[in-house]
Amino acid sequence: MLQKELVDKLVDEPCGDPVKDGHAGLCEKHYKEYLVDRINKAKLDPLPLYEKDGNIEIILMREEKAVPEKEEDETDDHYKQRLIEHIKREVPLQRGVEAQEPQPAANVQEPAQ
Ligand SMILES: [Zn+2]
Repeated sequence: MLQKELVDKLVDEPCGDPVKDGHAGLCEKHYKEYLVDRINKAKLDPLPLYEKDGNIEIILMREEKAVPEKEEDETDDHYKQRLIEHIKREVPLQRGVEAQEPQPAANVQEPAQ
């Protein structure tokens, strides 16, 4: 019982940065690290996920690529689209390479009775 209470207890963000709503109780920085970690573990194509989340620049940061800067008169949508195109050019290898080939069914012979 005591152990479960400890596990369920909310842990304060150790870095002291403000926690953002919908960020799993983490600050912006640690939420991004958390997302990257989750994606690495799941071996997912991260683009659709980040696209939805609006944090697509993390893909470039993770690959240690430069993130294009947003132009002053550029809309968020346009910038996002430009980032997506940039990522498709700059980070092609992690996309789709993890898809597994379907394995042919083993040809198991039933012993004739
Ligand atoms: Zn933090």
